[in-house]
Amino acid sequence: MLVKFWGTRGSIPTPGRLTEKYGGNTSCVEVRVAGKLVIFDCGSGIRDLGISYFEEFGTTGIEAHIFISHTHWDHIQGFPFFPPAFVQGNTFYVYGTAARRASISSLLSGQMQPEYFPAKLDDMAASFHYRAFKDAVDLGDGLIVETAELYHPGMSHGFAIHHEGKKVIYATDNELNLGLKFKDDNAGYSAGYVNPRETLLPHLIPFFEGADLLIADCQYTDEEYLHKATWGHASVSAVMTVMAEANVKRLAIFHHDPLHSDRVVDEIVVDAKNYLLRNEIYIDTFGAREGMVLKI
Ligand SMILES: [Zn+2]
Ligand SMILES: [Zn+2]
Repeated sequence: MLVKFWGTRGSIPTPGRLTEKYGGNTSCVEVRVAGKLVIFDCGSGIRDLGISYFEEFGTTGIEAHIFISHTHWDHIQGFPFFPPAFVQGNTFYVYGTAARRASISSLLSGQMQPEYFPAKLDDMAASFHYRAFKDAVDLGDGLIVETAELYHPGMSHGFAIHHEGKKVIYATDNELNLGLKFKDDNAGYSAGYVNPRETLLPHLIPFFEGADLLIADCQYTDEEYLHKATWGHASVSAVMTVMAEANVKRLAIFHHDPLHSDRVVDEIVVDAKNYLLRNEIYIDTFGAREGMVLKI
């Protein structure tokens, strides 16, 4: 499996010199596996991904599976700017949750009403197939995408790609802290958490278990989280606690806060590594960078 990061930022694109190491485009990750193209989320990073498809494959005959975690702006705002969508002869399968009252096509078309964008969803000339997912999607050729509900206002979903014994997970916009409990409420983070297997949504540890790569929302330092609880994103120690319990092998820190310069993201990565060191846990941990390619 090849994993490429096209957008790693949360909330809003943040171009500029202060974010050039980790990138300013919002959430978009591409996975190439079993001869298929799989895309997680349509943040602003999907624009460059689309341009790269033209360069690599030509303008027509492109086929990809697009999974949408949820429809907050930073996960769909690049969709109207995905150039292959406007070319006849391309085919896209778009998966959104079946748990919402509105279908994924109507939610995507909402941001393309004439008040917001000059072209409508129906003006996209590629062939689109919209599908509602529940628990898992079978893409054929031994490729299964398992889904799981995460902790997020309005709900977000994580996706686990399984192929030939490998497991890569994309799980962003996930406030794991809400499912954890402190050992001592008065001592907070310094006392650590109760075993997350006993407190987290019961499906989540098995969902993360043994992942070869987990791309996870780790937006806040522990200090910041104290002021941003219930905003829908996790803190460093919460993510590390859960990843350790689930025996994750590699962790990409993702969905960087728009207020965080490269220097702050570097500090979050150091915080994460220190947390693991203190607790004698080995997980290969790094900050996801736009343009980074991983072979799993
Ligand atoms: Zn987000
Ligand atoms: Zn969100």
